[in-house]
Amino acid sequence: MTAQILDGKRVAAECRRRIHTQVEQRVSRGARPPGLAVVLVGNDAASEVYVNAKRRDCQEVGFHSIVERVPATITQAELEARVAALNATPEIDGILVQLPLPKHIDADRITDRIDPAKDVDGFHPYNIGRLALRRPALPPCTSKGVMLLLDSTGVDYLGARATVIGASNHVGRPMALELLRVGCTVEVAHKFTRDTAACTKEADILISAVGRPGLVAGDWIKPGAIVIDVGITRDLQGRLHGDVDFERAAKVAAWITPVPGGVGPMTRAALMLNTLQAASRASDRG
Ligand code: NAD
Repeated sequence: MTAQILDGKRVAAECRRRIHTQVEQRVSRGARPPGLAVVLVGNDAASEVYVNAKRRDCQEVGFHSIVERVPATITQAELEARVAALNATPEIDGILVQLPLPKHIDADRITDRIDPAKDVDGFHPYNIGRLALRRPALPPCTSKGVMLLLDSTGVDYLGARATVIGASNHVGRPMALELLRVGCTVEVAHKFTRDTAACTKEADILISAVGRPGLVAGDWIKPGAIVIDVGITRDLQGRLHGDVDFERAAKVAAWITPVPGGVGPMTRAALMLNTLQAASRASDRG
């Protein structure tokens, strides 16, 4: 078997086109375009790349976007005050504080200060709680993006066995909640799991979100499975690697995501969708 490629770039581009159309319709009705504010603390090189990409996406779909750059020396109280100011800014529908934050900042407390209705990253306890209760409002972007990719395969979720490797608050856990919500039987492996391979071999849907290149060997994969590689590790030459041994896995799986060009573009597309949704709800509230 040779797997079909799950092309995140293509699915994300379609998603952005649909969002652009909806923004045009919104504006033609006299509403303002959705607005996204990204807060960038310090000058981490990888964060700069991510923030620039989000800015380009905003331009493409017709959003108003601002980047608030603040020095790495900012205090907790000052950063919380910035978030409070954005919460109170009517033309900003979505607020994203780019992670990672400097060590002296308590990132959880910053997340807690974002208005849940503007929490387009979907990390606020309110939004995670809504997802857990099967009433998602603004769910985390990576797992939402993965679901859009899975949807594009036409997979029947009901009763499918899904394994998620990785249990972080930002990726693995919300991923498991999304899969449970659509009717999969879900198993989650993490760093304390004794035999991760044993958790993957029966999985119809396998999602790896660890950040360890080569972790998922070809013989971990059930023939005909859908394999989604969330992991991203940059090597010394600057090349990106996923968690999955792509060459071998592609011989066994039915569908597989490339790295790069798989989940990354879908995470950004989900951010645009969340921002549009936040803006629509803000308009509904008047
Ligand atoms: P994290 O470090 O917070 O979590 C990693 C998880 O992997 C933990 O739950 C840990 O228990 C588990 N783990 C570690 N070693 C393991 C092992 N040997 N077997 C099974 N589980 C193991 O990382 P994160 O923020 O969840 O991100 C995970 C990966 O996904 C990283 O490579 C990150 O760069 C990438 N990522 C990609 C996107 C994207 O859009 N493509 C978005 C977010 C994160």
